[in-house]
Amino acid sequence: MTYYKSINPATGETLQEFAAAADEEISGSLKKAQTAYDSWRQTAVPERTAVLLRVAELYRDRRDELARIISLEMGKPVSQAKGEVGLVADIYEYYATEGPAFMEDELLTVRGGGEAVVRSAPVGVLLGIMPWNYPYYQVARFAAPNLMLGNTILLKHARNCPQSAIVMEEIFRDAGLLDGAYVNIFATNEQVAEIIADPRVQGVSLTGSERAGSAVAEVAGRHLKKYVLELGGSDPFIVLDSEDLDATVKAAVGGRMSNAGQACTASKRFIIVEDLYEEFVDKFTERMARIEPGDPLKPETRFGPLSSQTAAEELIEQVQDAVGKGAVLLTGGKLVEGPGAYVEPTVLTGVKPGMRAYSEELFGPAAVVYKVRDAEEAIELANGSPYGLGGAVFSVDVERAKEVADRLDTGMVFINSVADSQPDLPFGGVKRSGVGRELAKYGMAEFVNKKLIRVP
Ligand code: NAP
Repeated sequence: MTYYKSINPATGETLQEFAAAADEEISGSLKKAQTAYDSWRQTAVPERTAVLLRVAELYRDRRDELARIISLEMGKPVSQAKGEVGLVADIYEYYATEGPAFMEDELLTVRGGGEAVVRSAPVGVLLGIMPWNYPYYQVARFAAPNLMLGNTILLKHARNCPQSAIVMEEIFRDAGLLDGAYVNIFATNEQVAEIIADPRVQGVSLTGSERAGSAVAEVAGRHLKKYVLELGGSDPFIVLDSEDLDATVKAAVGGRMSNAGQACTASKRFIIVEDLYEEFVDKFTERMARIEPGDPLKPETRFGPLSSQTAAEELIEQVQDAVGKGAVLLTGGKLVEGPGAYVEPTVLTGVKPGMRAYSEELFGPAAVVYKVRDAEEAIELANGSPYGLGGAVFSVDVERAKEVADRLDTGMVFINSVADSQPDLPFGGVKRSGVGRELAKYGMAEFVNKKLIRVP
């Protein structure tokens, strides 16, 4: 049965197809990962460091080829794809070099004397379930800290990213990682549930939609397995005041349009104080309307197709739902004519509760702009979302922006910039955006056994 399919979303052409793994293959992979765990956990830390450094080096050496694969497979413009590969190399290097310090024994001061140490020990085999929007980066956030800790990994990638999944496994092999410490599995969702239930598996990390997150968490909960969920977002971009509205608008367009808008932390709801609203809307709409779609493989392309025709049609449906219920479409709102899953950059105003665009995530190049009286109303609107991933606050008064940041119910807030990710900054959300954190030292604190060793 063909389950994993690589389809070029810029043309609709099927590039490669892969059958789902047979059940025996999955049980072989589980066995391999458990056997590898027994030795990898005992592998000296400098050896683990050396492997991860080689992984980083291979990502850098193979950057162009790796970038081309994701451009073809999920439509990311190649310039952005190269950026992703660079970030991934930085993540592996970061955990290779900083990881050992995060794992050092912690000596406790004990009431009544004696010795107590908290040791960071691995927990075992983990399952990663990853999405297509940043095919290498999502995996790196999970794999780098956990391999450094001594855990081993089974990785189930998105159905539309099989080629990326295969090349990542090759990189680990070429870097000399112990066989079985990272195993790609072309599993079905039914097999995933069985893997989570397997007593050898100690935890699961999923990045993806709420639907997938709750399905996986339900199985994990039933089997008492720890989980980390990085789910959707509907990040607010709040403008309180501005000395340079053009620069703010430019940041807004960048925040919405990178990766064709398919980022969990993309700016999705633009919340503008009334003094600036009209001017912001005019400038923002004008800039969005000017963006030209292009071939993801061309170096000059900044805006490519969505990951699939279905994703493009789903976004159009969300926009049409809003327009049908009275929202105002200022630009876009249609599929781009011709082949490929291209959606016109879209701007909506007048979006209200009861419209899908009000409460759902718009995972593509569609922005909603809201007018508010003041910071108070901006906070209320921002927090009215079921999501709580990131957010941006723009103001010349950084202290005031920090006060607003403090009151936003999100896992991350960026002041005078849009969300970005780097290895040494934690990433994650609250509410329906997920559970747990990745990156920085926090990314090593999820699947770890903080083991107490006590000597009276
Ligand atoms: P998705 O459909 O949820 O897929 C994500 C992964 O989950 C895929 O590997 C998918 O496998 C798997 N999956 C889906 N249903 C499952 C089930 N019932 N049991 C087990 N696995 C299941 O998400 P997507 O549409 O690819 O990705 C977009 C979403 O991810 C957006 O909501 C976005 O905001 C979110 N995201 C969040 C973050 C973050 O860090 N917070 C980062 C990036 C993206 P199949 O492909 O085989 O179905």
